[in-house]
Amino acid sequence: MKGEAAGNSKTHPYQVLLFYKYVDVDAPEELAAHIRSLAAELSLTGRVIVAHEGINGTLEGTVKNTEKFVVRFFPDARFADVQVKRSAGTGKSFPSLSVKVREEIVGTGFTDEEANPRVSTAPRISPEELRAWYEEERDFVVVDMRNNYEFASGHFKNAVEPGISASRHLPLKVEKLEPLKEKTVVTVCTGGVRCEKMAAYLMHKGFTNVRQLDGGIHSYIEKYPGKDFLGTLYTFDQRLTMHFGGEREVIGKCHLCGSASEDYADCAEESCHLHFIACADCRDAEGRAYCSEECRMALV
Ligand SMILES: [Zn+2]
Ligand SMILES: [Zn+2]
Repeated sequence: MKGEAAGNSKTHPYQVLLFYKYVDVDAPEELAAHIRSLAAELSLTGRVIVAHEGINGTLEGTVKNTEKFVVRFFPDARFADVQVKRSAGTGKSFPSLSVKVREEIVGTGFTDEEANPRVSTAPRISPEELRAWYEEERDFVVVDMRNNYEFASGHFKNAVEPGISASRHLPLKVEKLEPLKEKTVVTVCTGGVRCEKMAAYLMHKGFTNVRQLDGGIHSYIEKYPGKDFLGTLYTFDQRLTMHFGGEREVIGKCHLCGSASEDYADCAEESCHLHFIACADCRDAEGRAYCSEECRMALV
């Protein structure tokens, strides 16, 4: 078993597991059924995607039951070397358990020729090595492969963002990264699963020196809380952001008034639902926020 539980089980009775692996899965339906029954037996909630290219999951439960899941699931030879990441849960990070079979474990739409991490991808850089690069003030550029709204509340010092709202939009924005083609580029994302493909795609596009952060931002700020990564780490569950202690500043800004905030809202206009940061002052009495004047007017 890799790593340690996210904390004392008395003070943090729940934890969230994050894991992925690109590996050939011959019978995704069968594997999904196995995960579904094991997770249900342990009363875990969360989301797992299974595809012919691998698995990608986030599961929450009590510390005890999530650790049981790790002990029972990961001995499967295909997944034996998976880095399971742990963070403190709330017991209600997910409304239910969803285990689905999809075409891809991250929806990029890339063909195998454009990016296939099962065959090859960019070499990894460990959090320790990246920390040293920051210390040495080496010449490198961090390219953040997450979506723009994730970047908004936290990112590495001097990081560049392609400005995408979903992974499948990278091809539309890769031009913006062209000036970095001959540079040392370090790709980062939450836990690493997106970078495996995004870094491979950049190499396919002719980027000459691409590295990907091993274990993602999650592993980095777990080791170096408050260092180099500014703000907070966005999560795709009801926690919305993840903290690992250490001093940090709030870099998120309200999309409406610009004041410091890390509170996410979905635009209350039905046809919009833009996901953005909205401070308490910019919400109505029910806590709802509209991303723009157009959306606010559309309702009345
Ligand atoms: Zn505001
Ligand atoms: Zn809107």
